[in-house]
Amino acid sequence: MEGKEMTPEEMEQKKKMAIEMCTCRTCPSFKDCGEEIAFCFPTIGKSKCITEEKGCICGSCPVTEKMGLKHGYYCTKGSEKEQSEI
Ligand code: SF4
Ligand code: SF4
Repeated sequence: MEGKEMTPEEMEQKKKMAIEMCTCRTCPSFKDCGEEIAFCFPTIGKSKCITEEKGCICGSCPVTEKMGLKHGYYCTKGSEKEQSEI
C-alpha cells in the first residue's frame, strides 16, 4: 500500500517525531555509531553499523502503532516502505 503524499516539511516533522519516540536505543540489537535512529522511517532505513539481529523491540514502540507499521528489524532489513515493496 502506498503512503500518503507528504510535503517535505511534513516529512521532516514526522521524521523528528519518529526519532524522538524511537526505542531502538534500548534494543539488544542496537549499536550506537552516531547515526540517525527510527530506521523504519522511509528516508532513514538501514543502519550502517547494526548487523546482528539479537531481537527487535519495534513491536512495542509507539511509532509502530502511530504509523501502522507491519515489519521489524528496520535497522538490518530496511524501512517499512522498503520492506513492503519486496
Ligand atoms: S518502530 Fe522501531 S525503528 Fe521505528 S521508531 Fe520504533 S523502535 Fe525505532
Ligand atoms: S529496528 Fe528493531 S532490531 Fe533494529 S535497533 Fe530498532 S528495535 Fe532493534
